[in-house]
Amino acid sequence: MRARDRVEILGVFVDRVNLAGAAARVKGFVDESRAGGGSGGRLVVTPNPEMLHAARRDEELARLINRADLAVPDGTGVVLASRVLGAPLSDRVAGFDLLLELFRLADEGHWRVFLLGTYPETVAEAARRVALDHPGLELVGFHDGYFSPGDVPALVEEIRAARPDLLVAALGSPKQEKWLAEHLAATGAAVGIGVGGSLDVLAGRARRAPAAFRRLRLEWLYRLVREPRRARRILGALPRFVWAVIIERFRQ
Ligand code: UDP
Repeated sequence: MRARDRVEILGVFVDRVNLAGAAARVKGFVDESRAGGGSGGRLVVTPNPEMLHAARRDEELARLINRADLAVPDGTGVVLASRVLGAPLSDRVAGFDLLLELFRLADEGHWRVFLLGTYPETVAEAARRVALDHPGLELVGFHDGYFSPGDVPALVEEIRAARPDLLVAALGSPKQEKWLAEHLAATGAAVGIGVGGSLDVLAGRARRAPAAFRRLRLEWLYRLVREPRRARRILGALPRFVWAVIIERFRQ
């Protein structure tokens, strides 16, 4: 296997990949697992500045990002930080774009896909739309993300019985990453990916930033204005993340 090209940002490693490269890696994991060669249970994470900031205080999160099989730079803030630190990433890979690309590959390759997360009606609607838009993709199951610890063994068994190639976990960060790190192997899925609020967007319950914002790399700004609850969280974390990057730059 080709050595991974990774960039360190404040103690956390992120892969230097673009969207096509990231999707190709995931396809490689699925192909390998289907061929019976791989170990399966490949973990894909999509760190954004908020998650990188959280990882500075949450050692478990930092460890599992570093241990993940693929960590894509989700957001312009991550790319900018890498530039300041002198090990530039080429481009960001928005988690939602990666998910759409994976659905496209799933459609082509007849992957089995399981959706986990958000509210019962929302995940059902997301599943309906994904299956409708991708006739070649096998939507083998879905489950909401509001389960108790006691429900986990049955849930893991339900996923295992569905034999997914791709397990899409939308439980919010860091819950989804920690859940996958603990249970992915037991589910038997070839690949597990944490995708935050993406199922809400797929189901039409939340809106993505308009194309103009995305082109200008200002998706984060749109979300700040649209989601005040989130804004407080991000505005708390972002300056501290930027500050930590600047301090690190001067320490180098
Ligand atoms: N969620 C869930 N179970 C939980 C907590 C959250 O399924 O116990 C879902 C929630 O409904 C939403 C997603 O996880 O769909 C979190 O979205 P958000 O955009 O807040 O995640 P982020 O990308 O910021 O981590």
